[in-house]
Formats: sequence, C-alpha cells, structure tokens
Amino acid sequence: GKVDYRAEQKFADHMKEKSEASSDFAKKKTLLEQRQYLPIFAVRQQLLNIIRDNSIVIVVGETGSGKTTQLTQYLHEDGYTSYGMVGCTQPRRVAAMSVAKRVSEEIGTNLGEEVGYAIRFEDCTSEKTLIKYMTDGILLRESLRESDLDHYSAVIMDEAHERSLNTDVLFGLLREVVVLCQDTMTSTISLFAAFFGNVPIFHIPGRTFPVDILFSKTPQEDYVEASVKQALQIHLSGLIGDILIFMPGQEDIEIVERLEDLENAPALAVLPIYSQLPSDLQAKIFQKAPDGVRKCIVATNIAETSLTVDGIMFVVDSGYCKLKVFNPRIGMDALQVYPISQANANQRSGRAGRTGPGQCYRLYTQSAYKNEMLTTTIPEIQRTNLANVVLLLKSLGVQDLLLFHFMDPPPEDNMLNSMYQLWILGALDNTGALTPTGRLMVEFPLDPALSKMLIVSCDMGCSADILIVVSMLSVPAIFYRPKGREEESDQVREKFSVPESDHLTYLNVYMQWKNNNYSSVWCNEHFIHTKAMRKQRMNLISCGSDWDIIRKCICAAYFHQAAKLKGIGEYVNVRTGMPCHLHPTSSLFGMGYTPDYIIYHELVMTTKEYMQCVTAVDGEWLAELGPMFYSIKHAGKSRQVRKDYAEPCSLHTRFIHNPAISIQRGNVSV
Ligand code: ADP
Ligand code: MG
Repeated sequence: GKVDYRAEQKFADHMKEKSEASSDFAKKKTLLEQRQYLPIFAVRQQLLNIIRDNSIVIVVGETGSGKTTQLTQYLHEDGYTSYGMVGCTQPRRVAAMSVAKRVSEEIGTNLGEEVGYAIRFEDCTSEKTLIKYMTDGILLRESLRESDLDHYSAVIMDEAHERSLNTDVLFGLLREVVVLCQDTMTSTISLFAAFFGNVPIFHIPGRTFPVDILFSKTPQEDYVEASVKQALQIHLSGLIGDILIFMPGQEDIEIVERLEDLENAPALAVLPIYSQLPSDLQAKIFQKAPDGVRKCIVATNIAETSLTVDGIMFVVDSGYCKLKVFNPRIGMDALQVYPISQANANQRSGRAGRTGPGQCYRLYTQSAYKNEMLTTTIPEIQRTNLANVVLLLKSLGVQDLLLFHFMDPPPEDNMLNSMYQLWILGALDNTGALTPTGRLMVEFPLDPALSKMLIVSCDMGCSADILIVVSMLSVPAIFYRPKGREEESDQVREKFSVPESDHLTYLNVYMQWKNNNYSSVWCNEHFIHTKAMRKQRMNLISCGSDWDIIRKCICAAYFHQAAKLKGIGEYVNVRTGMPCHLHPTSSLFGMGYTPDYIIYHELVMTTKEYMQCVTAVDGEWLAELGPMFYSIKHAGKSRQVRKDYAEPCSLHTRFIHNPAISIQRGNVSV
C-alpha cells in the first residue's frame, strides 16, 4: 500500500510540539528522533489502518524494529486508550519491566502512571494507567476474573513466536486478540495464520546489516571457557564495537563476568543480564559505556528477541540455552541446558547487524548446526508440566481438556502426568473434578505444591511461618556472592544455616532481618539482597517456634519429591531410585548431619542431578502425608507404629503406575 506521509508529518509535528513544551527539551528531542528512526515509524499509519479494519492482525518484524515500544504508543495516540487500556504481554518479567520504563520515558511520564507494568507480586500501575505491559501469566489470571477483559481496548500478545505456555493458553481462551507481534520465522507465522483463520499478516520492512557467521571448526568441550577465549580475542583485536555473549544460565554468566578482571588490557565493562537480575542493575545494559570502554554484555536468551541493545557488533553464541523440560525419568520438570534451535541461532547472530555490519562467532560446528539442531524450539506446552494450566482451565469450567482449542495440543502423557500430580496433592478428585482444595489452590499465583503448603499450614497452625518460606522461595535469590569476597560471603551465609533444612534457613534469615528492624544496612553486611527481602514485608501473626511443625507442613506438599540416604552423602530418589545429590549451597551440605529422609524443592541438572532447597523429614511423615506412595515397613509383627520407635523407620514404596489415571471424556479415574 501507499504510505500516508501527511499523517506521518502530522504525527511528527505533534510529537515535536510535545517535546518543545517540555523543560527537558534536549533529552526529549533525542528520544523523539530515536523513535522516528525506528523501521516501524515508516509504516505507522498503514499499521493503524489495518488494525482499525481487523479484529486480529499478525505483525511481523525484525527484532529492534520498534514493535514492543512503539505499537502501544501508536494505539494510544490514535485514541484507543479512551475506550480502555492498551495491554501488551511479555513472556519474561524483565522485558515487561524494562520496556515499560523505556516507554514511560519516551512519553515523558513517571513509570506507574500513564505507562505501567505488572508482573507476579509487583503491580506498578495506577488509576491513570493507559498503557500496561505485563507478563502473559498476569493477563491469564486477569482473564480468570474477567473473562471478556473489558478494561482493555486492545491487547498485544508480544513474542508470540516464543510459544510460552501462558501465551499459548491465552490464544485458546481469547479468540479475539487484537494484535499480535512476532519475529520473522515463516513456519511459525503460517501456524498462527492457520490457527486464527483468515487474518492479515503485516510485515514491517526491516533494516539490517550483513553479519559474518563464523563456525567453530571442532566441537567445543567447555562452552564457558570457549566463550571467554573468543570474547578476549575480539577485545584484544582492537576492532571497535560492543560484544554480546549468549550463555545458557545465570551460573555461567557469573563465571564469564570474571572477564572484567583482565590486567594490561583495554577497559572492558562486563554487564550481565538474566531474568533474576535485580531491576536496578538491568537498566545498565542500555547505557552507553564511557569513551574508550568496550561494553560486553553476557546474557541468557532474554537478549535474543525480548530486549534489544544498540551498538552490538560482535555476538558470541555458546549454542546452548536453559529450558524447563518435563523429564519422564524423574516424572517432573527440570531446568536443563539444551542445544539451541536453528531459529535461536539465527536470532542470536542477527543481534550483531542492527546498527552496522557485524560478526557472529558460533561455538559449534556448521555440521552441528545443520544436522543436530532442531529448526525451532519445541513449544513449552509440549514439554512442561501443565499442572497450573489444568487447574486454571478446570476452574474456568473447561471440562474436557483434551477438547480445548490448543494451537499445538500437548502430548496426552504430559496432560495425564499433570493431572496425576494434582491428584496426589488433593486438588483433583478421582473423577478428575476440582476439589475444594483445588479451588483454593487456583487463587494462588504459585506452583501447585507451594499453594498446597500454604493451605495445609492453616490447619497445622504455622501459616505465618510457611508464608515466609513460600515468599522466600518465590523471589529472586536472596544471597549474593560478590566477586573477590566469595569466601567472606560464604562464611556469613553459613551462620544462618539451620542444619536440618534450607527452608528453615530461609525462615531464619527472615526472622533475623525482622529482629534488625528490616534494615538494609544489615542486609548489606550479610550479603543479602535488600530488594528481594523488601518484597516479603507483610503483616504476620507468628505461631511460635516449633520448627518440627513447619518441616512437617513442607513435607505435606513435597512428599512426592523425597530422597533417602544411601551412603555417606549419597541420596537416591525414594520413588525412582535415581541417585541425586545435595547442592553445595545447601545448609545440609558437608555439615556431617545426614538425615535419612529429605524432601527437595526442585531438581537442577548440571553435571549431576542436584536437589535444591532441601529439608529433613521423618519417614513416618512421608507415609502419613503421602499414603499413595509410601507405607511403613515393620520389622516386627506389630502393625502399629511403636511410640518408642528408636531406629529410623523403614519405608515401603508403592510403585503406582505413573500415570495411574485414565481419561474418559475429560474425567480422570484413578
Ligand atoms: P522490537 O519489539 O521490534 O524488537 P523494541 O520496541 O523492543 O523493538 O525496540 C526498539 C528500540 O528501542 C531499540 O532500538 C531498543 O534499543 C530501544 N529500547 C528498548 N528498550 C530500551 C531501554 N530500556 N532503554 C533504551 N533503549 C531501549
Ligand atoms: Mg519486542
């Protein structure tokens, strides 16, 4: 179509007036110029026209073309916000926060007023809010309360190509989404088009520069080391331009951060970015480095499409990412490092060609790229535990989950497994219907096991304490280990350790913080993130200090994740017999105290299977609270548990077929 240049000019004049009226003229003007330089600006009016004429539009454009930051503003300027908010969903919390901040600056208001964001546990919006960025999980919960989402005049489902679990479920629920953003991947686009029927697809003309792609000649054994080497080589080559390194996760990023300690080398500013990074540090990656200093950003795949940093000339791609995947061997989700897909690889290299020609170093061979990598990543809905989705859909009255309109229906096994897990926790009854407990669980924006823990704690009289434990497990890590002070911080941390439980260690930290009047100085002295702690502050009614009750309550929700002592420091999963190890950061690690039974919060697989956040429990509790799995095996003839039971009890594990459920017309029978 033809571009309406008059409308564009009018818009530009309007924006100019706005900025000239402001006192901070210089800064606004540059922001405005930046806005107008974005590829999406050239098609502003065309986009608005097509959105006005269609109830659903698919918008496709290169990363950095301005979709996320501009589209909401265009709709606002076009008058949409007089009928309701313009909402924009993001699969990642960091993106929602960072983009909202940027847009509030572009519009010239305080964050939380006209432009706000909402993520789990943090609502930074007000009555004034017209443009709302949020995680897709938030919109999903809002649709629980108000299924027609009447308070929005338009909803933008951003990063739809990423196929996050929540976005996928939203697609099934909201068949009247207005706009949908996504990046250039033809296979995904045709899938969307097929799903929504006959909807227009709008392409934003891109502006990209060529990127040289250099493959590794041989496979790399250690991608962290290889990345550091590669980055160093670029840095010392004298070529100008910032570097972006893609790493799978936070731990690897922390290792790479040591690049900064280089001696006798030109200055290098190493900046990490990952989803758990405190928000005050996130903003740093967008700031220009001082003259003569090269910026080196070390990121997870958050920098693939969600966040665009200008000025990147070199990309170093480790070839790996972290994915939450349902592992049939252990019967639950585990975060694991996986090779990326070709689509990821291409997105990553594209980051080097935004502002000029660039180079991408792939630390894997060309043959690995061609023959071993998947074309695109498997959608989350097809690889993870669906317990929360099942709860949500059941509470929305969706009876037959197998008939729900999924874009890519999840494998039946996943669905069954998730229902099975909910049945274990007492959220579903034998017919697959939501129980009163299940109904309560939907209200909490938490993993089903954590919701269960809270619910049980009310009956057990330790709700105040469990509330703290759950909160501590739900915020970013509270302990930190600053560079160069690792040992010192480890020592301080050890002082908080409760020998039988990491959960209680968290509780202990909180109680001591409280005794110190919630002081931030105290946090700094103890290597604790003040910001993470502040999120916990609430009015609590404590129930005393019988920590055995608390441990039992934790056991009531995590009995399905239990391990048994096998040898010195060796544990095996009670149900599967799989060896698993105490994480070195655990309070139980190397304390010489090795309880016979423990439960764990999650399993992390790196070099070994590590149990993270562990609590010692009694064998009897496991039998009492998880009767579908365990019963007490008695040496003697008596079938009753003896009061003077001195020796560790011996548990008998029942091997239930997993899943022991069959689905008939959406019902479960066990
Ligand atoms: P897209 O969604 O199409 O990938 P975005 O709207 O996210 O593009 O980005 C458009 C531009 O805005 C980019 O040049 C990016 O660098 C800039 N930008 C986005 N967020 C920020 C921020 N927090 N600080 C500075 N610049 C930003
Ligand atoms: Mg975007």
